[in-house]
Amino acid sequence: MRLCVTGGAGYIGSVVVEKLLERGHEITVLDNLSTGHRDAVPARCRLVEGDIRDRAALEAALEPSTEAVLHFAALSIVGDSVADPLTYFDNNVGGSVSLLRAMEAAGVGKIVFSSSAAVYGAPKQLPIVETHACEPTNPYGTTKLMIEKILEASKSAWGLSYVALRYFNAGGSTERFGEDHRPETHLIPVVLDTALGKRDKFTIYGDDYETEDGTCIRDYIHVVDLADAHVLALDAMDRKFSGPLNLGSEDPFTVLQVVQATEKVTGKSIPREVGARRPGDPPALLASSKRASEVLGWQKRQSELENIVRSAYQWRLSHPAGYEA
Ligand code: NAD
Repeated sequence: MRLCVTGGAGYIGSVVVEKLLERGHEITVLDNLSTGHRDAVPARCRLVEGDIRDRAALEAALEPSTEAVLHFAALSIVGDSVADPLTYFDNNVGGSVSLLRAMEAAGVGKIVFSSSAAVYGAPKQLPIVETHACEPTNPYGTTKLMIEKILEASKSAWGLSYVALRYFNAGGSTERFGEDHRPETHLIPVVLDTALGKRDKFTIYGDDYETEDGTCIRDYIHVVDLADAHVLALDAMDRKFSGPLNLGSEDPFTVLQVVQATEKVTGKSIPREVGARRPGDPPALLASSKRASEVLGWQKRQSELENIVRSAYQWRLSHPAGYEA
């Protein structure tokens, strides 16, 4: 199948592209390299370096035989979205509208969209199921929810098939592809950088939550398990499924447990301090991925916490300067 992958030079997109190539698909990556890396795009892919808001770039990326799009391209730092919401709405929502217009014009009727647990906001019940209220607490989460609504409206209006995969916290690496965000805000790479001496200490934002050790609870999923779900989502659209699906490991860990797992994997002690709570951080986030299992036949295979941390550690050791080595 010929597929177009927006944001394929980024962290999750690169791992999914690797998996799709293994399956024999032909891939065009469309990426403006704003947060992605040229070296994260395998030579076997066609790379169109361009923006999803640029019609000419979209026309170049959507070749006539393209059957589906996997849409990762987005800005995704929550704090930045609070400080500069218009840039986020322009890039994420405006970019998705522009992509969908080009898909409709080119007759491409299937899309797998990278949504987020951020669409839910503060959880009212745990684990979170797809029918949970969607009340995002920051502009980033709002952009993802708006795009989901645009996908649903496009389904009604012109027959688009879509799967919106609501990822919880992605982590881990493959041998070749890993996480190289600049700046890095995600917990596991930040803790690993502290273990490797690239940061002086790790700050735990609050240790007075009502959890077993007082630190926040999150749900971590291995990026390879996410990649499997994307492959299965393409098949699900052939069976006429459209809609949102959660992807989490259903195996929650506290921030402190992640730090301890990292100490165990690396054999290094991690200097840490306790800082103030971050406004809007829910005490616990935990997915129910039951519907993804039922609809896609998906099962997590690699999302055990130490395995996630170990693979991320190995990638950092083999890529000490990230993709710029
Ligand atoms: P990333 O920043 O590594 O990748 C995003 C890619 O999109 C980058 O290569 C960037 O250059 C590209 N891009 C951004 N805006 C673009 C534009 N206008 N035109 C073309 N390319 C553009 O991010 P990631 O961590 O791989 O996340 C991928 C997707 O998954 C994002 O949509 C993100 O919101 C979503 N997500 C990620 C997580 C996570 O834990 N990493 C969790 C939930 C949802």
